[in-house]
Amino acid sequence: MLESLLRHRARIRDSVAVKVGNQAYTYSQLDALSSSMAAALIDLGIRGGDMIVTSVKAPLDHLALFFAVRKVGAIMVPVNPRLGRSFMDFVINDVKPALVIDDYQGMGISSSELNRGGKEGEFGFRMNLEETAMILYTGGTTGPPKGAMIHEGSIIWNAVMTVLSWGLTKDDCTVVSLPLYHTGGWNVLLMPLLFVGGRVILPESDVFDPEWTIKTLAEEGCTVYMGVPAMLDSMSKSPSFASTDLSRVLFISGGGPLLSSVARRFTERGYKLFQGYGLTEAGPNNFYSPPETFKFKENTVGKPILFVDVKLSKDGELLVRGPHVFKGYWNRSGETVFTEDGYLMTGDLFAVDRDGDYFFLDRRKDMIKTGGENVYSTEVEAALKQLPYVDDAAVFGVPDEHWGEAVVAAVVRKPGSPVSEGDVRRDLKGLLASFKIPKKVVFVREIPRTQVGKVSKRELRDMYLKDGLREFLDE
Ligand code: ATP
Repeated sequence: MLESLLRHRARIRDSVAVKVGNQAYTYSQLDALSSSMAAALIDLGIRGGDMIVTSVKAPLDHLALFFAVRKVGAIMVPVNPRLGRSFMDFVINDVKPALVIDDYQGMGISSSELNRGGKEGEFGFRMNLEETAMILYTGGTTGPPKGAMIHEGSIIWNAVMTVLSWGLTKDDCTVVSLPLYHTGGWNVLLMPLLFVGGRVILPESDVFDPEWTIKTLAEEGCTVYMGVPAMLDSMSKSPSFASTDLSRVLFISGGGPLLSSVARRFTERGYKLFQGYGLTEAGPNNFYSPPETFKFKENTVGKPILFVDVKLSKDGELLVRGPHVFKGYWNRSGETVFTEDGYLMTGDLFAVDRDGDYFFLDRRKDMIKTGGENVYSTEVEAALKQLPYVDDAAVFGVPDEHWGEAVVAAVVRKPGSPVSEGDVRRDLKGLLASFKIPKKVVFVREIPRTQVGKVSKRELRDMYLKDGLREFLDE
């Protein structure tokens, strides 16, 4: 069904769908570009159900290619070029694609080869909600990335639920800062806005630029924006943040926990900001804070979005059900992430308060059990980041004979802050219960992160146990 989206929008109102730099493309232009790419795919022998691995540089071409792939009924498998050749090899080996389109490593053909100089094909409706549209690889934070099979219905329902909950209309506009190789880039706002005939600005560079983002949001009259916490943090520290009026924009943070200190820089200016929550397997939009009764509440992700059914397991894991949830992993038939009654097990621990607002506590695998108590690594990290001399921190558990597990913190000090382990532990006393205070604090120059910018506690713990994080030590 997605194959007909652009044509439909063009017929209703052929407004600007996408802008990249100074170039604007209307819905009909984007539709024509994708039809010409689809014709080129057919010439290359691509047929319905074929896999196409994509690592495309120009975001406009990547977007048009998505619709081209839908028009021929093939399956797009976008790959993050930053993950390098070995990851590309892993994906190619996993999905055995009919075609690789790669502008970075030169594997397969380049996207420019799909330019047929305007020759378009005719494509009809297929109307199949169950068809796999994309395979999106998970972030690989807790283990090797897995290819989540995303069916058409998942993308469509995510968009419909988002549009209805947030009240998006043709007058809405966003800047898409998240790259087009995982669910955040495609599904938070890009698809929902194209559904309603809104406007989407894509950055020319694949390196996040906070100054450009602020300027563009203001100049283009954007109304809604989603970024990961690190992006919102950089924006709020940018020189133009204080001098630019962004009061029209509804800000959404997601992908990881948002620090209260960052949130406050937005809310103190009277800006609307809330946290969303999602994962590759269920799309990025599962919770929201209803705009009509908007009240900023720290740390909460708000209430389940329309048609999302959630519950907490006995030990607090968030379970999600709904038409947007994926059907399974590619090539891993033995691996299930569903409960017997059909809920997706998210692997994340949540709590819910009296108002029905949900709170992310920690990834289940990152919670530390010490001396019979549960310690959420995120809570200790948030306390550490409140200390004036701490730049960054990551907290994890290591096996301990006495405590079962002991809390360990890797801490990056601000330049010129000669604090000791004892200082950190002492200063945490006013902020945390004693069993949550790290038994060991290691000072590092930086926190090692995965290619997608998340902290893999599993890798951090392994490195710590192997050689005390020697490679990163700041002594
Ligand atoms: P893998 O599943 O391969 O280990 P990953 O969990 O990073 O990697 P993604 O699907 O990209 O894969 O990320 C989803 C995860 O991101 C969620 O399960 C959750 O742990 C985290 N997350 C998303 N939104 C939030 C949020 N608002 N607050 C805290 N964590 C969040």
